[in-house]
Amino acid sequence: MKEISRRKMLGLTAATAAAIPLAALTGSAVAGGHAKLDPNDAQAKALSYTHESPDAAKNCANCQLYTGGDAEWGPCAIFPGKEVAAKGWCSAWVAKS
Ligand code: SF4
Repeated sequence: MKEISRRKMLGLTAATAAAIPLAALTGSAVAGGHAKLDPNDAQAKALSYTHESPDAAKNCANCQLYTGGDAEWGPCAIFPGKEVAAKGWCSAWVAKS
C-alpha cells in the first residue's frame, strides 16, 4: 500500500478546505447539496424554464411542485436532483393550493 507523506496529506486537506467555500461562491452547489438547474438543460429548455419568471404572479415559490419553502433555491418535482430559483418559472407551473 502506498503511503502518503504528512506534507502531502496537509496539502490535500488545505486544498479541500479551500475548495468548499469556492464552490459556495461560484454557485455551483446550494445548501441542499444539489446543483442549480441550468436553463440550457434540455428538459429545462423544453419547459421554457427561466431563473426569472416573466409573470410576477407566477413563480417557483408559489408553484405546487416547489418544495424549497422560503429558500431562494429549492427542489422541484419536475427536475429531480436539481434546484430551481424561487423567482424562476417554467411552463409546468401549477398554483400552490
Ligand atoms: S414546475 Fe416549473 S414553475 Fe413549478 S417549481 Fe418546478 S420549475 Fe418552478
